[in-house]
Amino acid sequence: MSHPLIEADVRANLCLHDIADDPSSIYTLPMSYLVAIIDGLQAQGIADRVRIYFDDGYASVLEAVQTLRTRAPEIEIVLALTLEFLGQPGRIVWSDIDPLYDAGVGIAGHGREHLHMAELSDEQNLAQLVASRDALARYGADEFVFPYGSYDDRVVDLNDRHQLFKVMTTIDYGWDHGQALRPRLMATTEMTAGEVVARLASPD
Ligand SMILES: [Zn+2]
Repeated sequence: MSHPLIEADVRANLCLHDIADDPSSIYTLPMSYLVAIIDGLQAQGIADRVRIYFDDGYASVLEAVQTLRTRAPEIEIVLALTLEFLGQPGRIVWSDIDPLYDAGVGIAGHGREHLHMAELSDEQNLAQLVASRDALARYGADEFVFPYGSYDDRVVDLNDRHQLFKVMTTIDYGWDHGQALRPRLMATTEMTAGEVVARLASPD
């Protein structure tokens, strides 16, 4: 009996933030949690169907990527980077990106600043999208991850009109059939690692 993700021939995406043993918010998860997710995905035989995102460029992503690469090289990794966070305390710096990119880690835009795009004007949103595209073009960034998961039809239309990113990525959960509005499941301390892995068996 194969896993529903395999039967449906789809993928799933997980959104993580900071990985630290001293949780400062519901978005900070310990390394043991990440390892439990990896083990759970591999036990279900679905690690190669799951993409793991690290949003916001926390410095902990360096160790997290190493752990993933060592334990589960079949898991695709994407970093969603907000430009103004780079180089701030506790965050990665620009020179960290090259070795990650060279190691096959995907790079996605996540705003010049980290703003609720559903609350911005078209002009403001365009500036966020263009700055992200221009700064990350050398990493082949063709994906934009909405900060806070905040978006509306306007920002999606705006991106289409200006042909900036191929994929726009949410934190609305669902299976990934390759649609241009990409679903993700956001993991927080409110779910156990086992619950996160179990959730992937369901399409919505
Ligand atoms: Zn973010």
